[in-house]
Amino acid sequence: MTIGESESLEGGCTCRQVRYRVSGPPLFVHCCHCRWCQRETGTAFALNALIEADRVALLAGAVEVVPTPSNSGKGQKIARCPRCRIAMWSNYAGAGELIRFVRVGTLDEPDRLPPDIHIFTASKQPWVVLPPGTPAVPEYYKAADYWPPASLERRAAVLARLKS
Ligand SMILES: [Zn+2]
Ligand SMILES: [Zn+2]
Repeated sequence: MTIGESESLEGGCTCRQVRYRVSGPPLFVHCCHCRWCQRETGTAFALNALIEADRVALLAGAVEVVPTPSNSGKGQKIARCPRCRIAMWSNYAGAGELIRFVRVGTLDEPDRLPPDIHIFTASKQPWVVLPPGTPAVPEYYKAADYWPPASLERRAAVLARLKS
């Protein structure tokens, strides 16, 4: 990770009505090459930082949550600026409201969060050349196989809250 536990990153939409802050390092950063992400972004992949919802704070404005179909069939809720409609994060089924998938490109310093893994590379655009040294999987993966221990601990705490 390129960001420390006491650091934070800020981001927002294009019209600047919505601003947010992410506190501490993400659990993991996905570069997703699935067809759904390609369509939703209009480009080759999506870059999502997975982080607990309570580490994401709104600094200005409010988001509009748009229910959207997802690859799993269970749907996702995409948080968008109500004015310029830029998507800033989404919540998927599974960890639900407790984990947000923050769109790294909406951060002021997106370079701080490079991908920890490339997923769904089976549908990767053929001209995208993946860097050596970063894990890549044809579809999805098990967190226990790739996440650092600190992230797995935080994930376990989230899952415990889901059950309670
Ligand atoms: Zn906006
Ligand atoms: Zn995807």
